[in-house]
This record gives sequence, structure tokens and C-alpha cells, in this order.
Amino acid sequence: LTEKISSAFKHLRSKGRLTESDIKDAMKEIRMALLEADVNFKVAKDFIKTVTEKATDAEILESLSPTQQVIKIVNEELVSLLGGQTTRLTISPNPPTIVMMAGLQGAGKTTNCAKLAALLRKQQQRRPLLVACDVYRPAAIEQLKVVGKQLNIPVFDEGQGDPVEIAKHGIDFARKNGYDLVFLDTAGRLHIDEKLMDELKNIKATVKPTEIILVVDAMTGQDAVTVAQTFDEALGIDGVLMSKMDGDARGGAALSVKAVTGKPIKFIGTGEKLGDIEPFHPDRMASRILGMGDVLTLIEKAQESFDQKQAAETAKKMMAGKLTLTDFYDQLQKMKNMGSMEEMLGMLPGVDAKALAGAKIDEKQMAHTEAIIQSMTPKERDNPSIINYSRKKRIANGCGLSVEQVNKLLKQFEAMQKMTKQLTSMARSKGKKRRGF
Ligand code: GDP
Ligand code: MG
Repeated sequence: LTEKISSAFKHLRSKGRLTESDIKDAMKEIRMALLEADVNFKVAKDFIKTVTEKATDAEILESLSPTQQVIKIVNEELVSLLGGQTTRLTISPNPPTIVMMAGLQGAGKTTNCAKLAALLRKQQQRRPLLVACDVYRPAAIEQLKVVGKQLNIPVFDEGQGDPVEIAKHGIDFARKNGYDLVFLDTAGRLHIDEKLMDELKNIKATVKPTEIILVVDAMTGQDAVTVAQTFDEALGIDGVLMSKMDGDARGGAALSVKAVTGKPIKFIGTGEKLGDIEPFHPDRMASRILGMGDVLTLIEKAQESFDQKQAAETAKKMMAGKLTLTDFYDQLQKMKNMGSMEEMLGMLPGVDAKALAGAKIDEKQMAHTEAIIQSMTPKERDNPSIINYSRKKRIANGCGLSVEQVNKLLKQFEAMQKMTKQLTSMARSKGKKRRGF
């Protein structure tokens, strides 16, 4: 999907000014790409319609960078298609929070409820308990015990009893023993049938779960969407955990779920290992589909105040960890009419505000910073590591500031360099992990 969409953009890029028919052609390509990726037909059609309407706006066609604008629109619409915001698991004000896992056989309920329990234990310091309500095969109970043991999460079971009773007893046990997050691992079947739905409805009516999370297999494409729709209509679900995202090269199921069912994807399973689970971030997913990471946003932002080529070069240098003080100086100049560096860096994937503290730039300090860099030789700007004490003194004298002030700037710059390096390796490892998409 990523490849196809980039190719549509490439055709646009080779254009300069765009006409309505250029956009129509590009949208045709994107529509094909979506359909090939197994995106629901109506979802694809509506998506193209919205993007076309927004993109053929006269203001955009006449803007200096129409292609970038179109890409931006596609990105925004993708994010909204995927659900907009990240949706978290609802936590009950009266513990325990009860999460009922539902889904067809093999979708990934058992493994992913254990993964999810471990994730929330780590992220939110919860005390999870797994309850074995899939009673039809002894192996299913055993499987839950095995994953529970691997993650050191307790499992409540009563063998092959009545799943409704087991659920009730499990929740009582949790309440008495201070577990604040209960996962009900229910039975699945190969196909949706009334008996399965009745059992799930009974459990739902009896224990009144805080959330019903439907687990669907991303590799089944549009079937996953149909399953979600059917479960939602029959049982009512609160969110979707899409498993096996690592195996879904096309990405179509993830794109359609929210639009078709109105229920958000809350988590994704990304592999067989018990750590392979992530909260679902619509914006990151959209970037992944467009194949350009948030670096594109960074470039776009920069483009507002200086030309695209230069911005692309700067972003590339940043990603390569090769930012020099000369670049830094240029940035400072441009930043006067752009957002802050902090904001720009914040657009790179996975950056947290704390990491930025060292690179924070006080607007009032900017004049000093400029003066200091101006007093440096080009050699020093490109290779700050050669700046020893006597050079620092010379620079300080040159700009009428103190050696401490020179030191401070160099430290800030170092922090920024270190961080961009971290970002690069982060972006690389993410890129590797997500190449399948
Ligand atoms: P259940 O029948 O719904 O309980 O499904 P299971 O939890 O037993 O999972 C079925 C199979 O899918 C198991 O072999 C899991 O290891 C595998 N599986 C589950 N989630 C993922 C995932 O996110 N990625 C991959 N690659 N395999 C998964
Ligand atoms: Mg199971």
C-alpha cells in the first residue's frame, strides 16, 4: 500500500502546478491502492471523495506547493479514517476493571489478553488477573496458564465448568485479592454462530464488563471487518484489538474497521512474542502507510518559511546525526518566523518532552547564540569538537560574551546532536520493524 501511494505522489511531484485532472489521476491511483490493500469498497470511495473535494480547492491548486498540500490532506484524512485520536482502555472507577476478550477461534484472544495484561501492568502499574472462560478444550485453559506463567500473571480457572459462573467467581476472587484488572479469556469458534453469541451475551449480562474488546486477525483482511461488524451488532463491543499486524502487508483491515463499525482499534498485536503489543496510534499508522514518517511533517513545517530543498537537506542531516553549528545558525535565523526548534523536533517519531529539555532554546538567548556562532571560524562551526579553551576565549572576546556563555551554547548543541542521533537509531529500528507494512 505504501509503495502504491508513494508512486501516486511521485507522479504529482513531477508536475509543478496542479490541475484538477492531475489530482483526479492521483486519486485514481490511490483508490486502486486502497482496494488492492483490501480496504472496504465504500470506505475507499468515501475517502477519495473527501480528499478530492479538499484537494481541488482553488487555494490549494494555486499554492506554491500544491503536491505537499495534497499529501497533507491525504495524511489528515487517513488519520481521521483510522479514528483520529489514540483511544485508551476505559478503567472502571470501581475496581476491578473487567475486560472481556471476544473473537473467533485463532484470532489471538488468549495470547493477546496476556500481552495486554502485561502491558497495562507495566504502563499503569495495574494488578491483572486472567480468567479462563474458554472451557471447551482443556488445552485452551492450559494455554492461558502457560502464557500467564511466562509473564508472571496469575490465572483463575475452574476447569471445564460453566463459563458464566467462572467469570463471576474470577471477578469475586479479584475483588477479594486486590486485583484491579480482570481479563476474561472467552471461547471462540471458527465461525460466528448463535450458541457462541448467546454464551458471550450471558457473560456480558452477568458480569457487566467495563469493556468488551474484540480481537480480530488483521491477516484476514475484509473478513476481519465483517467479523467486527457482526460482533458489534450482536454483542456490542467497545474497541478492537487487531492482532497479527506483523503479517498483514496490505493494511486494509486496519483502515476500514473504524469507518465500518464506528468502534476504534485500541491495540495492535505485532508479533508472536509476549511483548509484541502496542497501543494503536492513528497518526503513526497513517505516516506508516504514507511511508514517510513524521519527518514529512517536519519538512512541511519548515517549508512554510524556507524552501523545500533546503528543509529536506536539513531534515536529512538531522536524521544522519550530522547537524553542524552552521546548520544550527541557519535554523536560528529561520526559526524567527517558524515554530521553535523544540516543536520541530517534537514531530520526529517517539520524542518525549524530557529528552528535549537539553536542547531547549530560550528565545531571548537567541541573539547571544547568533553572536557566538558568528565569532566562530567556519571550521569551528562544522566541527565544534576542535573548540578548546583558547578558542573559546577568542570567541568570547570576539562577541563580547563570557567563556561560560560559549560553553553553554556548545553544551546545548551537543545535547541536540545526541538527541538527533538517538532519534535516528529509533527511527531506523522502527523502520525495520515496520517495513512489512
Ligand atoms: P485465540 O484462539 O483467539 O485464543 O487465539 P490465540 O491467542 O491462541 O492465538 C492464535 C495464534 O495466533 C497463536 O499461535 C498466536 O501465537 C498467534 N498470534 C496471536 N497474536 C499474534 C500477533 O500479533 N502476531 C503473530 N505473528 N501471531 C499472533
Ligand atoms: Mg484462546
